[in-house]
Amino acid sequence: MPTTLVQDNACDVAMENFDTAADAIGLDNNTREMIKRPERVLTVSVPVRMDDGSIHRFEGHRVQHSSVRGPAKGGIRYHPQVTLDEVKALATWMTWKCAVVNIPFGGAKGGITCDPKRMSQGELERMTRRYTSAILPLIGPEQDIPAPDVYTNSQTMAWIMDTYSMTKGYAIPGVVTGKPISLGGSLGRNEATGRGVFYTIESACEHLRMPLQGASVAVQGFGNAGSIAAQLLYDAGARIVAVSDSTGCVYNRSGLNIPQLIHMKSLCGHVDGFPESEPILPHELLAVDCDILVPAALENMIHADNAGVLRARLVAEAANGPLTPAADRILESKGVFVIPDILCNAGGVTVSYFEWVQDEQHLFWDAQDIYNRLQRVMKTAFADVLRIHLDRKVPMRIAANMLGIGRVAEAVRIRGIYP
Ligand code: GLU
Repeated sequence: MPTTLVQDNACDVAMENFDTAADAIGLDNNTREMIKRPERVLTVSVPVRMDDGSIHRFEGHRVQHSSVRGPAKGGIRYHPQVTLDEVKALATWMTWKCAVVNIPFGGAKGGITCDPKRMSQGELERMTRRYTSAILPLIGPEQDIPAPDVYTNSQTMAWIMDTYSMTKGYAIPGVVTGKPISLGGSLGRNEATGRGVFYTIESACEHLRMPLQGASVAVQGFGNAGSIAAQLLYDAGARIVAVSDSTGCVYNRSGLNIPQLIHMKSLCGHVDGFPESEPILPHELLAVDCDILVPAALENMIHADNAGVLRARLVAEAANGPLTPAADRILESKGVFVIPDILCNAGGVTVSYFEWVQDEQHLFWDAQDIYNRLQRVMKTAFADVLRIHLDRKVPMRIAANMLGIGRVAEAVRIRGIYP
């Protein structure tokens, strides 16, 4: 059964999960109306002169879902499948995510529909700068702070920071996070999402009394989050038996050598053909006999038609929205423990918050300090969500949403409505 992308609309998924959690906390209709939908939505046209001299018009979006608890915060994604509905869903999840880890940010997301793998550095730079100037009225260190997401990185953030700073006339590093260290970036930000995923897996293993040492793991998606989570799990003695990326999937029952796989991927850009592994089909990864599955690719990868084949006991959502509500129900009935995205992958935005604080203070922390603070935030958030899961007997996803939505609702209640 192929792992095709079924067209579950991410926005519908976000709304369905919102309603379930809002019902569970008994949220009144007025507050629901105020916090459910995005505060601001901007779609922009991004004309770019391509290397062959032609002009291509890309479409971009920036959605601010909430600024109730602080500046809107969230990444920018470059991908052929970016749609406004997807960006809205991702912005909504950022709001609950920041609230779950209790950092003083709201939620936002941006995206451009493009195929960055087929664009030159020059084309990417011109597209990024033009997009930045188009969303300029929305962003700023006190307003809305972009960061990397799928197929954007610290270089993309450097271009955004430079474009924004040039229009203001002086350097403003705090307008983005996930910047290069030399521009005011934070130590530990690059590996923060994967490290946060690792901390939540550690906590879940303790809860499930499942030793991490020797546990078998399959990782779907070997980008920033997936590869770093895999490396830390490997260092902790777990056996990474299967890894996939957009080009293929490799399997070794006794465990893949993750440092070597990361090295190979950095050289040739793919995982297939890795020595001491056998190729399997991407959809076979989900059915691999393993204790832990880490979906670290895109939304809706696990859905009604393929969730039944999963054999893992623990699913750690390094990606945003990898499970549809139908998949949730199937895994729930199989007794699978799910660490939901807004908890599992919140390490990235948590260290983004540390970066923003350091930029504001012009005072920088050492790596160990960052790791200690990140660990504390992730372990606290995990314990908070687990408590709701156990006390209220709701799935972990609903528990996380109840916590996040509850905190935003409380802030709205205290702030009141303007005017
Ligand atoms: N793109 C990441 C996420 O989905 C990080 C966002 C940020 O650091 O603002 O959580």
